[in-house]
Amino acid sequence: QAKSRGRNNYQFFTEAMNQQIARRMQLETAMRQGLGLGQFFLCYQPQFSLADRSLIGFEALLRWQHPNMGLIAPGEFIEVAEDSGFIVDLGYFVMRQACFQAKAWLEQGRPITVAVNVSYAQFARNNLLELVQACLADSGLPPHYLELELTESILVADPDNVLTVMRALQTIGVQFAIDDFGTGYSSLSYLKRFAVDKLKIDQSFVRDVPGNPDDEAMVFAVINLARSLKIRSIAEGVETEQQAELLQQLGCDEAQGYLFARPLSVQQVNEIFFA
Ligand code: C2E
Ligand code: MG
Ligand code: MG
Ligand code: MG
Repeated sequence: QAKSRGRNNYQFFTEAMNQQIARRMQLETAMRQGLGLGQFFLCYQPQFSLADRSLIGFEALLRWQHPNMGLIAPGEFIEVAEDSGFIVDLGYFVMRQACFQAKAWLEQGRPITVAVNVSYAQFARNNLLELVQACLADSGLPPHYLELELTESILVADPDNVLTVMRALQTIGVQFAIDDFGTGYSSLSYLKRFAVDKLKIDQSFVRDVPGNPDDEAMVFAVINLARSLKIRSIAEGVETEQQAELLQQLGCDEAQGYLFARPLSVQQVNEIFFA
């Protein structure tokens, strides 16, 4: 009996694997079609200065509105897009869209930074520099209104290549932030080498403060690390006033999160912030 169950488990396992592969392929095909059909769009989550609660920028966050599957969050498709390489096309769409939107806001008299998430695969193609430059040139956005968010894993994966692209973009004024800081495997020497403009404290460290002493210590350490390096810190996932107050007391510069606003459509941004 153990034997037959073992065999069944094995069959079940491979079938589940096949199903997963099939689902991924379906998703990839749907994504490629969806991009052509205009199903992808960006939401913008505002970022605020903690000192005076003034608006300082937006993070562009990708959304997929599928006719049958509904609104799909990046957690459901970014990984598939990264594994298949489709993230390169998708990432270019995001970069272009964000640059044109920031330029539109600038022309409305709203000079505001837009942060764009970048995946490792976009660096691996060796044309990221040209693509970003093309987006800036085509949109007419001055480079210092664009910020790129990189995770530690990107820095670690290919430091020399990333550093070259980053230096070239920093020279023209593009800003860089390390996203989800504290969750990856980068060492402090990376921080020194990469000289980014901002550390984003991961929301997993923010969630249980005030209250959890370990998380409070983590948050405090990252804020002070940023200060020592003379760069800014921003906390993500700030949901309560108590979190915002503690972060401010600890010396954190900026925050984003549901306390302030969820990721918003362009129309919502214009109504709420730029009316
Ligand atoms: P991220 O860059 O760390 O973005 C922050 C995520 O936290 C967003 O999820 C945002 O909606 C969510 N969030 C914001 N405030 C709060 C809060 O107060 N509480 C909680 N619980 N969550 C909050 P989202 O939009 O689902 O994006 C998830 C991840 O997908 C992003 O994490 C980013 O890594 C990735 N992503 C999103 N857009 C893009 C993109 O255009 N390109 C790439 N490569 N990745 C993207
Ligand atoms: Mg991000
Ligand atoms: Mg983040
Ligand atoms: Mg995060």
